[in-house]
Amino acid sequence: LASKEVKKEKSIIKVGNVSIGGKELIIIAGPCAIENEEQIINTAKAVKSMGAHILRGGAYKPRTSPYTFQGLGEEGLKLLKKAGEIANMPVVTEVVNPEHVDLVCEYVDILQIGTRNSQNFELLKRVGQTDKPVILKRGMSMTIKEWLMSAEYILSEGNRNVILCERGIRTFETATRNTLDLSAIAVLKEETHLPVIVDPSHATGFAKYVPCMAYAAVAAGTDGLMIEVHPQPEKAFSDGPQSLNFNSFGKMVEKLRQFASIA
Ligand code: PEP
Ligand code: MN
Repeated sequence: LASKEVKKEKSIIKVGNVSIGGKELIIIAGPCAIENEEQIINTAKAVKSMGAHILRGGAYKPRTSPYTFQGLGEEGLKLLKKAGEIANMPVVTEVVNPEHVDLVCEYVDILQIGTRNSQNFELLKRVGQTDKPVILKRGMSMTIKEWLMSAEYILSEGNRNVILCERGIRTFETATRNTLDLSAIAVLKEETHLPVIVDPSHATGFAKYVPCMAYAAVAAGTDGLMIEVHPQPEKAFSDGPQSLNFNSFGKMVEKLRQFASIA
């Protein structure tokens, strides 16, 4: 169902007044984790004013260590929804458990499947039964073929609104957190009608590398970007080193406007 052989024209996924997969570059921005009301509302207002279209924020964090911040859960979902309403932006959050899907759907416009759950087939089937668009991140050791098969798990349940997100893969290189596979964009454009976005924050792991990889992703043909932004990255509960502050996010978007169409 993801194949271009089945559907030739590009899929455009609409969320509120935002279209993903059309001519505009769509920017999803926000903190890795929702930490408190002030943090998420201030970030929402800031990124919206600088050109972001969709607000992100994690309420259930699939952390590598069980001893680090795990997210605010339903309280975080409430804050995310409130921030989205205040800034007039659709919101996206990650869902990690099939049993949470109904609850998460009450609060958000887009569901995210994280890299660690990209082959959690029960979770994929469950989100496939909802009517919410799904951002499916690439598994950190996943081939493009396997990624598209994960998309099939969602599509075949009836949900045709899947957005693929390249977020870097595991390689031997340790200078960056992951290795951004820009060629995946080119390959996917040949193989599938689904929109493709890029997350240079998780791909690089360092704020200083995020803007250049964002520009490169646009050159490679991405339909959107997912960027981690925090009011004070040095104080972030998670992924601070790779988060942009408001100032650097604003500068990056200004530069993107020189060669990308941003509404
Ligand atoms: C995230 O978006 O904060 C996240 C955990 O991403 P990934 O699943 O790509 O690591
Ligand atoms: Mn993160």
